[in-house]
Amino acid sequence: MFKKILTVMLLVLFVCCGCGKKKEEITANDLNEIVKRDVITVGVRTDAYPFGYLDKKGHYKGYDPAIARVIARGILGSDKKVKFVTVTASDRMMKLYSGDVDMVIATMSVTPKRRQLLDFSDPYYVAGQALLVKKGSKIRTLQDLNKKRAIIVFGSTSENSLRTAMPTVGIIGYRTYAEAYKALKQGKGSAIVSDDTILLGMALKDPTVELLPKRYTKEPYAVAFRKGPESKDLIRAVNFIIESETKNGNLKKLRENYNIK
Ligand code: GLU
Repeated sequence: MFKKILTVMLLVLFVCCGCGKKKEEITANDLNEIVKRDVITVGVRTDAYPFGYLDKKGHYKGYDPAIARVIARGILGSDKKVKFVTVTASDRMMKLYSGDVDMVIATMSVTPKRRQLLDFSDPYYVAGQALLVKKGSKIRTLQDLNKKRAIIVFGSTSENSLRTAMPTVGIIGYRTYAEAYKALKQGKGSAIVSDDTILLGMALKDPTVELLPKRYTKEPYAVAFRKGPESKDLIRAVNFIIESETKNGNLKKLRENYNIK
């Protein structure tokens, strides 16, 4: 009986350590795979205007899809060789690991916790957490939210930072920023806590809400990849593209197209 249990345990260990993998899996390289497939699949947002949204015709628009097209041009020679997959703040990591996408470009901040599970490119933008309130609201700072309710999007960095920095704030969470915005309008919470980039997008479209001036964090946005040696070449290629497109002023021009400072 003991021998049988030992055999099962060894088998589990064998499979978990990857010793049971076929040769192609061990030598898998995401960049080669993309080149062979001749298309990149990229996870982007549709709820994070102006970084990721759909236009009236249902086309993916915003700075993040624009960066994806630049990467497709750099790796495959055409900005059309990209297939977009919609991700939310809470499912973007899962969609990377399930293989639904090769990379995620989705207002995603690099954090030490995320670094344990994902690999990241160099940052391509730095945002900061802020508050969006209804115009005329008495809330002016994060501290004013004490014992009130704050609106967040599940899986975002503000969910985490609020829970640790302000445990006395009640939190109501939503899956998307569209739902979070609706909740603010309906008075379900006193403020949305999130990145200034996304909140400014809402404030520009709606004069009855206000983006407060204070910034509470630094949110370096980067392209996210599955963690592991198979991503190395792909990350190197993406970093090279981000660096050269920054130097030649192209990324700045793309940001200007979307009124992003
Ligand atoms: N940049 C923050 C994050 O990565 C918030 C924006 C978002 O929901 O993506 O969580």
